[in-house]
Amino acid sequence: MIGCECEVCTSTDKKDKRLRSSILVQSSETTLVVDTGPDFRYQMLRQKIKHLDAVVFTHPHKDHLAGLDDIRAFNFFTKKPMPVYADLLTEEALRRDFYYAFSDTGYPGIPELNLNTIAQEPFMVGDIPVIPVLVWHLKMPVLGFRFGKFTYITDANRIDDSEKEKIKGSEVLVLNALRKQKHISHFTLEEAILMVQELKIPTGYFTHISHQLGKHSEIESELPEGIHLAYDGLILEFP
Ligand SMILES: [Zn+2]
Ligand SMILES: [Zn+2]
Repeated sequence: MIGCECEVCTSTDKKDKRLRSSILVQSSETTLVVDTGPDFRYQMLRQKIKHLDAVVFTHPHKDHLAGLDDIRAFNFFTKKPMPVYADLLTEEALRRDFYYAFSDTGYPGIPELNLNTIAQEPFMVGDIPVIPVLVWHLKMPVLGFRFGKFTYITDANRIDDSEKEKIKGSEVLVLNALRKQKHISHFTLEEAILMVQELKIPTGYFTHISHQLGKHSEIESELPEGIHLAYDGLILEFP
């Protein structure tokens, strides 16, 4: 956190250096990213991502959208608009926050986007099947996504029973766990652990972690078997 001198913010452990939450999902043919937060540009540079087929959004909060302008680099290479998948609430925010990308000025160098409206219906991005999972971020509906055996859920503090069914059977669940103290719109560490256990998911990884949670190495050692803290640059493979 900017200006903070707590033991997490001043830690030299790389796993305590947390940028905004996002994942890249890749098959042999397709590469997509879930959310483009303020760190999107640096994350793409750091991981040396040269090609991106689509962006899929979870919800309209700024820490998940703000970096979309830098999609321009991919437009430049492909000479095509970037396919974007978002629900109506997120689409509204995109049209407002990136209004210049939706105006007919013909001005060169603006991000080119091709909006696809999604709801709860499964959809395909290239050869990657995507199943949206509706979760609640206080009162805001947020989309989690299941990709085969892998489910990614960020920014939630409640999941309806019907949506839990869509997650069950996943081998890996990535779930948000902000900190130990109660929060109005995010799962706490304990709530996230209980959710992974309730859904009987063999492996859980926690993301969207606040500096208030504590140091990676200390929290990691307190977690039950099969549950881990995710960290920036973590790669999970599904053969
Ligand atoms: Zn949020
Ligand atoms: Zn967030």
